[in-house]
Amino acid sequence: MIDETLDARLSAAARALSAARRIVAFTGAGVSTESGIPDFRSPGGIWSRYQPVMYQDFLQNEDARRYYWAMRRELFPMLAAARPNGAHDALARLERIGRLDCVITQNIDGLHQRAGNREDRVVELHGTNRFAVCLRCHEEYPMAVIHARVEQGEEVPTCKGCGGPIKAATVSFGQPMPEQAMAEAARRAAECDAMLCIGSSLVVYPAADIPALAKQHGALLIIINREPTGLDDWADHVLRGQAGEILPLLVERMALE
Ligand code: NAD
Repeated sequence: MIDETLDARLSAAARALSAARRIVAFTGAGVSTESGIPDFRSPGGIWSRYQPVMYQDFLQNEDARRYYWAMRRELFPMLAAARPNGAHDALARLERIGRLDCVITQNIDGLHQRAGNREDRVVELHGTNRFAVCLRCHEEYPMAVIHARVEQGEEVPTCKGCGGPIKAATVSFGQPMPEQAMAEAARRAAECDAMLCIGSSLVVYPAADIPALAKQHGALLIIINREPTGLDDWADHVLRGQAGEILPLLVERMALE
């Protein structure tokens, strides 16, 4: 059950969104918590038991690579078991009815694509865990293949071709952001007429610049999050609660109007 205030806010946001022709969604870890993948801030999750490995340490230090792959070994089954939830499904529906330009995501879990958003309409700012990549020759491997090798005792997997270090195709702390994805995200943010931010604290930069850019270019800004975010004061509509509950209702009401 949603309360009366939220209900009224939802209807107002749906009315405003109905007028938009080019909607861009911007998603963070909060869109996937209802699929069983904790965000960094949830207590007791995998992230509280491991320190992130800095990119420079990964490059320079065998022990850092061993620690990194011990963490990935634990992470992989959780990501592989996760299924899209109502929030992912609602965004796939928005694309099917021709109203969603793209999803710009900070997530590495691939759940937007699994829900049905087209590959070329998902911009991954922090890379993906679906693949691993050799940092020397750039050969790509499905993550399931590397996970199997780690499970068989290869603590620090290396490239079969050139012997270079293999890392998940995600952006680690200290690693440069993918230029092409950032440029595409900035272009689409500047051209959209509504930006829907879902499950992001909007404090992780430079990714959080993207919704701010949309707003500066005159887009309607709608935020769905269960806690206050860094851009609430800028938003036209703030809907506080569970993404998997609120987003389907928003799309439902919008589609009906
Ligand atoms: P974040 O900064 O995007 O914060 C997550 C936000 O989502 C929080 O404000 C939280 O209150 C909110 N939230 C959590 N569950 C929610 C729900 N069901 N409905 C609505 N709001 C909800 O993300 P973070 O946890 O600080 O992670 C930072 C970065 O780490 C991400 O940008 C991503 O690159 C990576 N990460 C990815 C995943 C993933 O791929 N699923 C998971 C964890 C972390």
